[in-house]
Amino acid sequence: MPDMTLKIEPILCHKGTMNNYAYVITDKKSGISAVVDASETEPIVQYCEKHQIKPEYVLTTHHHFDHVGANMELKEKYGLKIVAPDMEKHLIEGVDIALKSGDEFALGESKIQIILASGHTKGHILYYFADEKVLFTGDVLFNLAIGGLFEGTPEEMFASLEKIKQLPDDVNFYPGHEYTEYGLQRLLNNPTDENMEYLRLAVNRLQQGKSVSPIALGLEKKCNPYLKIDSLKDFVRLF
Ligand code: ZN
Ligand code: FE
Repeated sequence: MPDMTLKIEPILCHKGTMNNYAYVITDKKSGISAVVDASETEPIVQYCEKHQIKPEYVLTTHHHFDHVGANMELKEKYGLKIVAPDMEKHLIEGVDIALKSGDEFALGESKIQIILASGHTKGHILYYFADEKVLFTGDVLFNLAIGGLFEGTPEEMFASLEKIKQLPDDVNFYPGHEYTEYGLQRLLNNPTDENMEYLRLAVNRLQQGKSVSPIALGLEKKCNPYLKIDSLKDFVRLF
């Protein structure tokens, strides 16, 4: 069963403004924890203290301030190591471990593959737990949307999304922000079976005060307008 060895808790940060997600993740076999995209100190520390978690790593997807804001405070508090994309290590404070595309890293017994996904930023990386079927997509892929092109080209973003599309349909993805609500109207305007399934899931989870993620990549591929485009030519026209 996927996901069984990894516990993943979404922590909403910058609530009501940027609605970032940090994720506190724990490899259950070893008990080792990490924070993916340490956005804001207070909600992360609050969760960790409540659950007596002492994270050993921060896993950073890219250098933007809303994804690294808590890095140094968490490093000081927990003595953890900051893991970040090699291409952006000069832009991120306190990096201990810099990872390149194709590198492997381990959280206890859980192996992580590093996938370069340029477009939002030049060096943005994805953290992919192939065995657990879990993918952290930062600001590359959101529910029903993608991240803006701050440093990359549409061609680079298209190539990055192609990499994501090649991953198995039953991989669950965890984005860097809760932006799902912006895409819901589009689902209503085109009420296919898949769109209605997505809508039901999203509304149900949002009403319970939960994150919309995780959504399986298979469903996302059928409903996210940016993933549905198969040709670079058509994709580039969007920008
Ligand atoms: Zn960003
Ligand atoms: Fe962001």
